[in-house]
Amino acid sequence: MRTPYIAGNWKMHMNRADARALAMELRDKLSGVSPRVMVAPPFTSIETVATVLQGSNIMTGAQNMAPAASGAHTGEISPLMLKDAGASVVILGHSERRHSYGEHDQLINEKVHLALEEKLEVILCVGETLAEREADRVAKVVRTQLAGGLKGVTTEQLQNVTIAYEPVWAIGTGRTATPDDADAVHAEIRRVFTDLYDAAQAEKIVIQYGGSVKPDNVKGLMGRDNIDGALVGGASLKTDSFVPIVQFDT
Ligand code: PEP
Repeated sequence: MRTPYIAGNWKMHMNRADARALAMELRDKLSGVSPRVMVAPPFTSIETVATVLQGSNIMTGAQNMAPAASGAHTGEISPLMLKDAGASVVILGHSERRHSYGEHDQLINEKVHLALEEKLEVILCVGETLAEREADRVAKVVRTQLAGGLKGVTTEQLQNVTIAYEPVWAIGTGRTATPDDADAVHAEIRRVFTDLYDAAQAEKIVIQYGGSVKPDNVKGLMGRDNIDGALVGGASLKTDSFVPIVQFDT
């Protein structure tokens, strides 16, 4: 039985005062909900948000991290720093990192290993571009990203890994994959897990859908067998939209 998991990616939005106010509202309005919940503010607000959420049922995450624990990496943030600031989860391989900042599977794999060694939970994002979907390459792209990103990750480490399927053409565009389309790719991801690991791991792995999830489409998505949660961008910036997404089952 997989526990639903809803995560909010605040991207490069909100100063510390806004982040504190949103975290306080979420803490109060989401207390006692059944899904796992995480929010990932920008690096500069992690400590502020983690302090507000300490002792609550909402985890604090980061949106990225360096592939190194310390050293000469100008402009980067290490997993040790994320933990020090109060984060317990890190999103890796987001399509904006892949496509705007040139991150590739080998680099993402280094980050995945380091995060897991440092006992951070990982949300590993995979997903195809519109051109790849139109060329009928979705399964191949997702398989390559999973095999590359998870290379060398053990079955035991997988307990701290969540997959987010985020079709690039649906992120921040208002276009959502239909529940049928998303569920079909999630089923394919489980087949990849059977091949890379085994059927038990394929059954266990939590797979979020991401791409313009909103209060009015979350129920349809979460009703599908292979969709276990959501990674939410724009709609995670306001309680009016994020709270009903988390409470999709009420
Ligand atoms: C995201 O950035 O992970 C995302 C899914 O964004 P949005 O919900 O705005 O499409």
